[in-house]
Amino acid sequence: MKKVQMKSDVYNSFLGFGCMRFPTKNDKIDRNLATEMLDYAYSHGVNHFDTAYPYHGGESELFLGEYLKKHDRKSFTLSTKLPVWEVEKYEDFERLLDEQLAKLQVEYFDFYLLHALGKERWEKIVEFDIFKFIDEAKRKGKIRYIGFSYHDDKDTFQKIAKAYVWDFVLLQINYIDYTSQQGIEGYKLLEDRNIPVWVMEPLKGGRLATLAHDMTEMYQKVNKGDSAAKWAFRWVHTLPNVKMIFSGMSTLDQVKENCEIFNDITPLNDEEIKIVDKVRDMIRNRVKIACTSCKYCLPCPVGVEISKNFQIYNDAYMYSNKERSLEDYKYGLKEEQKALNCIECGQCIELCPQHLEIPTLLKEVVSYFVE
Ligand code: SF4
Ligand code: SF4
Repeated sequence: MKKVQMKSDVYNSFLGFGCMRFPTKNDKIDRNLATEMLDYAYSHGVNHFDTAYPYHGGESELFLGEYLKKHDRKSFTLSTKLPVWEVEKYEDFERLLDEQLAKLQVEYFDFYLLHALGKERWEKIVEFDIFKFIDEAKRKGKIRYIGFSYHDDKDTFQKIAKAYVWDFVLLQINYIDYTSQQGIEGYKLLEDRNIPVWVMEPLKGGRLATLAHDMTEMYQKVNKGDSAAKWAFRWVHTLPNVKMIFSGMSTLDQVKENCEIFNDITPLNDEEIKIVDKVRDMIRNRVKIACTSCKYCLPCPVGVEISKNFQIYNDAYMYSNKERSLEDYKYGLKEEQKALNCIECGQCIELCPQHLEIPTLLKEVVSYFVE
C-alpha cells in the first residue's frame, strides 16, 4: 500500500477507507460483510478510516468504534466530522465532540473535520466562536489536526480557507467535476499555503468507474487491463498536494480492487492526461440538456427540483447508465421534487438564462424514467 507523509508525525496510507457506503441489510449495516471489508483493507495496509456523525443514520461511527477496538490505537488514524448544522450554542461543539469520541470509543481523533461547510454554516459557527473551540479541543488532546469538508461556491471557499491555519482540507475533486464548487482554484490556494488536500468522490459517486464502451476502449488501448476507476484515481494523483484519496467502498470486491490499485499507484503521464481530456470531452458531449445548475428558475410553485431532474437525466447519457440514474430519480428526489409534478405554469422559463423550454424538457425526463 502506497504511504504518504501526511504530517511530521503521521504516515498514512494514500487510500483512506470512507465509511459512508457500507453494505446494508434491512436498513442496518451488514456488520459481517463490512467487517470482512475492513479486515481486508487493514491487512493490506489501509491505516486511515473516515466516518461522520450522520453516516448510516449514526450507525457508522458506532460500528467503526466497535470494529477498531481490536486494533492497536497507534496502528491507524481516524477522522470524523462535526455536524455543524446541529450547533446552536458554543457548548454544543464540545458536547458533540464528546459524543463522537464515546461512540468511536477513542480518547482522541487524529483528524477532525467541520462537516460540509458552506456560507451559512460557516457564518453561524464563527458567530459561536469555532476558533476558540478548536484551540481548546486541541489543548485538551481530543483532536490532533483540524480541517473541514466543503460544498459551496468559490468565493466562500476562499474566505474559509484563509480564515484559519487549517491542518488539511477535504474536497470533492475528480476529472469531471474539477471546476465545480471550490474548483481547481481552491485546490491551488491550499497548495500555495502548504495545506494537505484530501479528496472525496474521486470516481464521482462511482460514475467514473462504469463508463460507456467506447471510452473504456480508449483506456484499454493504452493500458490493457487497467480499469476506468484506476484512471480516475491516477488523475487525482497528478495533483501533487493530494495526500489522501477516499473511496466509499460498498463491496469486498471494490476493497480488493482499490487495494491493488493503490499498492503501486502512480500519477498519469502527459500522454495519459490527454486521453483523459478526450474522455472528459466525450462525456460532456453526451449532455442532453444544457442546464448549468444555476437554479435561477427556482423556486418552482409545486416544488419541482428542476436542475436535479436534468442532472440525473444527463447522467444517464453521460455515463451510459440508465439503471443507476433510474435509482437516483426514484430515491434521490422527494416525490414533490420529481419532474412529473410539473403543472406547466411556465413561470420558470423566463428565469432561465439558458432559455431552456423547462416544462417540455421535464416531460422528456418523465418519459425516459417513468413511462
Ligand atoms: S413550469 Fe413546471 S417546473 Fe416550471 S415553475 Fe411551473 S410547475 Fe415548476
Ligand atoms: S435556470 Fe435554467 S440553467 Fe439554471 S438551473 Fe434552471 S433550468 Fe438549469
